[in-house]
Amino acid sequence: MFWKGPVFTKDGFRNQTINLENCEITEGFEGGADGIIIPLLRNCHTHLGDTLARNKIPENLTLEELVGPSGWKHKWLEKNNVEDSVIIGMKEIIGSGTGLIMDFREGGKEGLEVFDSIEYPGTSILLGRPKENEELPGKNAGISSLKDVPKSIEIASKAREKNGLVGIHHSENEREEIEPLLNLNPDFVVHLCHATDSDLKLIKQAGISVVVCPRSNDYFANRPPLEKMVELEMDIGFGTDNGMLCTANIFDEIKYIREKFSSLSLDSILSIACFGLNDMFNKDQTSPYFNLEENGWILLSRVEEDEYESVFSTKSEILGIRWRN
Ligand SMILES: [Zn+2]
Repeated sequence: MFWKGPVFTKDGFRNQTINLENCEITEGFEGGADGIIIPLLRNCHTHLGDTLARNKIPENLTLEELVGPSGWKHKWLEKNNVEDSVIIGMKEIIGSGTGLIMDFREGGKEGLEVFDSIEYPGTSILLGRPKENEELPGKNAGISSLKDVPKSIEIASKAREKNGLVGIHHSENEREEIEPLLNLNPDFVVHLCHATDSDLKLIKQAGISVVVCPRSNDYFANRPPLEKMVELEMDIGFGTDNGMLCTANIFDEIKYIREKFSSLSLDSILSIACFGLNDMFNKDQTSPYFNLEENGWILLSRVEEDEYESVFSTKSEILGIRWRN
């Protein structure tokens, strides 16, 4: 079986044929197109454990009161079944053709184990967080923030020993000092809503990637400087952040971004959604994400003449997903 049509590549759309048996790609196609084909999406920042708290959040809580170390969310997590939440979140991930997720896992070792029973045809990168006096569970570290976690340096070096990734939230609700972040030298930083142009330049120079979650930021009246990040050619990924704040569907995120960041081209938004964090994944040149031919694909219905307009249209539907892990 084959899918024929315009395929989204790093050089825009190209007419190609994909052999669904072996994922071989050939240029051009004969006869009619099946639709518009894009690589599987990447969701580079989630907290799926609180998905079922959606629509249950008390109104008017500040960021600190909602997701801070002793905030509402952590009390909710203690009283509710996190696995059920992750399953609901994963349904949104799978249903939207998302081939990569990077989830910040709260709850120490047990928090990571929640994923053991989850069947996912994509790649999940779980970033663990030690409970008090516990070792870093797993190999990757998802640090809440330098302010909340005094042992950040120690946790990051544990992750490095295990060849893992280090991610951290920074400058989400107010500007935080840049020096301690550069000292920590994480692989990627999430949010940076209040980072200055100079902060962004230093982050780029240090080879640190960035992940932005504009819908989640909007909930707290924050806005990431995404235009500047694109202008600086930073290595960017999109995330959907807490499942309780927004869906884990990257299509929802990019449609929102198109509306609120209207100076960005649809090509740059879609590139980040499909090829986000490429530099980070390819530091060692061994990532399966380095080679696009090893990616999977989403077949979308064509609802507009222009390919980009069609992908971003609310009328476009997923006709098929070719997973590849
Ligand atoms: Zn987060």
